Amino acid sequence: GKGGKGKDSGANFNINLVNAVDGQVVTRFPPEPSGYLHIGHAKAALLNQYFAQAYHGKLIIRFDDTNPSKENVEFQDAILEDLELMGIKGDVVSYTSDYFDVLYNYMIQMIKDGKAYADDTPVEQMREERTEGIASARRERTVEENLKIFQEMCDGTEEGLKNCIRAKLSVTSPNKALRDPVMYRCNLTPHHRTGTKWKVYPTYDFACPIVDSTEGVTHALRTSEYRDRNPQYEWVLKAIGLRKVYIWDFSRINFVKTLLSKRKLQWFVDEKLVTGWDDPRFPTVRGVRRRGMTIEGLRKFILSQGPSKNILNLDWSLIWATNKKEIDPKAPRYVAVLDNNKVKITIEGGPAVPFSEDKPKHKKNAELGTKKIVYSSEIFVDQDDAQTFKDGEEITLMDWGNAILKTIHKDGDIVTGIDAVLNLEGDFRKTEKKVTWLADTPELTPVDLVDFDYLITKDKLAEEDNVRDFVNPNTEFHSAGIADLNVRDLKEGDIIQFERKGYYRLDKPYSESTAAVFFTIPDGKVVMKY
Ligand code: ATP
Ligand code: MG
Ligand code: MG
Repeated sequence: GKGGKGKDSGANFNINLVNAVDGQVVTRFPPEPSGYLHIGHAKAALLNQYFAQAYHGKLIIRFDDTNPSKENVEFQDAILEDLELMGIKGDVVSYTSDYFDVLYNYMIQMIKDGKAYADDTPVEQMREERTEGIASARRERTVEENLKIFQEMCDGTEEGLKNCIRAKLSVTSPNKALRDPVMYRCNLTPHHRTGTKWKVYPTYDFACPIVDSTEGVTHALRTSEYRDRNPQYEWVLKAIGLRKVYIWDFSRINFVKTLLSKRKLQWFVDEKLVTGWDDPRFPTVRGVRRRGMTIEGLRKFILSQGPSKNILNLDWSLIWATNKKEIDPKAPRYVAVLDNNKVKITIEGGPAVPFSEDKPKHKKNAELGTKKIVYSSEIFVDQDDAQTFKDGEEITLMDWGNAILKTIHKDGDIVTGIDAVLNLEGDFRKTEKKVTWLADTPELTPVDLVDFDYLITKDKLAEEDNVRDFVNPNTEFHSAGIADLNVRDLKEGDIIQFERKGYYRLDKPYSESTAAVFFTIPDGKVVMKY
């Protein structure tokens, strides 16, 4: 087969899928509709799309909807929307529940072949027996008995509900995933697609290989923590006599101080520790987008991760640095000054009446068009800049020209005001400081610059850790400021740069009564801040 390489895609790896034939590869992304997509799912989805495209094959989006207690239509629709946002559209969208009849028939076949049995051993005991390598007392039930109990399970009778169906695979295999795994279990919760038709549902272990093979999947990408279960997947296909599917393991992605589990994220939503699944502190596709991650940034980052099969616990800085490269050439530039950090300069020789001029929004990208710069004899600069000024120093006011600082008024270390003289003949190449500034006019726009911190305080939660003990109490930080009038025209979702401050995504546009709300986009540099 041809290699899965692609310079345009940003992939830095070149992987050949085993036995892949150009034009015939079929991959699938199988989300469970039990939550919104997070960045780990994005990795799985993008890799599946990547191989389907690299081999000119097909991508299936399949909802793995086999547990009605956790799944619903809201999640299902949201997943499709998020995939679309990422530019991922399946050639086929399917549902494991489309195959409930098929799966049921295969289970009947397996029972008849003596390859599965009904077991009512209590859960705890079953776990113990599995660990110890002890056969279930029910393992040698007859075919007739097993068929009868499976029927009871399907009917949801009292006897049926005590049972599950297990593969008769192995009692003592060193690979514990092979010790008679559960293939069917009862659930009386109505299913969001099949209603109350079924009272038994296949497990992922049973359904996944069968549906993969039935739908024509040639290569199943699975995260490497499933590796122990690969022989089981192959066993199911062999036991039923279905076409082989090649498995390709890839590493799960994890980030420090970040939970990538729908169940745990749901907990944060339920506890109202976040505003919803699209909270900018959430590692969901929606959350990171709202924080200012671009789809291209996400794609490039994931494909640049390459084929490592170790479980990764990544720092966020790398993905944000990748994103920064995407947004920097396209983000228009504006100016903002924080309220508690502004210093007025009174400029002798400045315009008696403020006037404005059109200037490019981005010096290296004319396509972005122009913005209005207002000139006035009273301007604001940052205290941080002002602290570095010396009496008599000549500075350059960006997009304007030079000014000579005559007197710097101070109260202790704090600069309280500056008197300057405009010197438009001055040479900007000879000044050390190029300063961003804002004319003090009534059109200045109030802004709320918001920065966020991690939701949890521990780098990597252990299995036994209680999330509640590691909730970060302070995760949202607001700074009030003013920005140039151009930001009034920005729309929700616009990504901009405030000169020398950083990148921001507009979450809530300015309106007469409220400040424009901007979210700080991490740029991968200030690791501690994020
Ligand atoms: P969660 O714990 O969030 O529910 P899951 O694996 O149970 O995760 P699914 O909806 O079943 O969620 O996953 C769909 C696909 O995404 C699977 O192929 C799964 O392996 C993959 N996936 C899930 N989390 C990650 C991750 N952190 N990194 C890479 N792939 C992931
Ligand atoms: Mg799952
Ligand atoms: Mg899970």
